[in-house]
Amino acid sequence: MKTNEIYTQMGVSDAVLRFGEQILSELKEPFAHIDEVAEYNQAKVVAAMQKNRLAANHFNLSSGYGYDDDGRDNLERIYADTFHTEAALVRPQITCGTHALALALSANLLPGDELLSPVGAPYDTLEEVIGIRPSTCSLREYGVSYRQVDLLADGSFDYEGIRAAINEKTKMVTIQRSKGYATRPSFSVQQIGELIAFCKECKPDILCMVDNCYGEFVDTIEPSDLGADMVVGSLIKNPGGGLAPTGGYICGKQSCIERCAYRLNAPGLGKEVGANLGLLTSLYQGFFLAPTVVAGATKGALFAAACYEHLGFRVVPGSKEQRNDIIQAVELGSREGMVAFCAGIQAAAPVDSYVTPEPWPMPGYDSDVIMAAGAFVQGSSIELSADGPIREPYAVYFQGGLTWYHAKLGILMSLQKMLEAKLIEL
Ligand SMILES: *Cc1c(COP(=O)(O)O)cnc(C)c1O
Repeated sequence: MKTNEIYTQMGVSDAVLRFGEQILSELKEPFAHIDEVAEYNQAKVVAAMQKNRLAANHFNLSSGYGYDDDGRDNLERIYADTFHTEAALVRPQITCGTHALALALSANLLPGDELLSPVGAPYDTLEEVIGIRPSTCSLREYGVSYRQVDLLADGSFDYEGIRAAINEKTKMVTIQRSKGYATRPSFSVQQIGELIAFCKECKPDILCMVDNCYGEFVDTIEPSDLGADMVVGSLIKNPGGGLAPTGGYICGKQSCIERCAYRLNAPGLGKEVGANLGLLTSLYQGFFLAPTVVAGATKGALFAAACYEHLGFRVVPGSKEQRNDIIQAVELGSREGMVAFCAGIQAAAPVDSYVTPEPWPMPGYDSDVIMAAGAFVQGSSIELSADGPIREPYAVYFQGGLTWYHAKLGILMSLQKMLEAKLIEL
């Protein structure tokens, strides 16, 4: 077949192609399910765009203060309608996911308040935002305390511990949907909904924020459908659809979002200011494409899980488990395995395919880190990428792929490099 010819030209051997096709033949059902989710979410996004009468004038550039920027305001209404929330803040001035999370926290927590994480340690970068690791301008410096309840040994919520931790100071609960660089499973929206209901039962006026990074559009519902007061994420992950060049979002209760806008800009200014700098077409079009982009990335994650599971490696989640985000962890068991896997992902990239990723001592990590990425948007992890710290259990975290075919090529290339390094046999 012609497709195989071009794969061969690109260096994928017959053995790898045959193995890939064999694994794929068993994935028809789960792929059909992923397509159904994407179909629903595509309609959900289009419906929100139609309801808000999206038109060409909404793509106009604004500069300076950005007063009366109807395109910016309409994008926020469309996000709010898609996530079924009262309001949204979606801005290129929100520089990344960590910034969006820091904003949601610092805008809604005051001195004397306490923040609770009932799902164990948060994502690495939040440690400095919260002040778990001492840090300038952390919430802790501003007099906001923090408490954490770890998951039980089986990965479930420690409801007794959570009830005991909620006290008169507890103002907000932060729940991270995706596992990040931890080895726990990612939570389903359903599980998050149950946790939110429990926290609100313990204390009705508690605010629940969900770090939704990597989870958007993997399911037909979002945490905001099940009681979250704020859902937060990055536009260079799922909802940017690969086209957003920068930005972050917070969707939620009007009262929470208003405070986020005052914290982002200045008290008194809020949502009224913020030039769009000509980025709106990318933000709108990326959001429009996001459901299918996420479907491609989810198929890639599943294909990787099935291939490497078949070869005897531990994968999280397993190929038969429900997927709650686009991240796939593959425990390769050795430094050589991680290097070969990442070399394959890099070799499949449209950008920087000629470089070879090497482990390096990245600031903030206690071991070397390896990263493979060849992205159009710098650091974008909705584009095909893989990374991980070089330490036990030698796991790479694989994510993204703007199209399923590109994700497939990346995984075939990774298998090829593993085969060449004699780390697998087919
Ligand atoms: C990526 C990520 C963040 C932080 O986002 P950045 O854009 O890298 O700052 C926070 N939480 C989770 C779960 C993430 O995956």
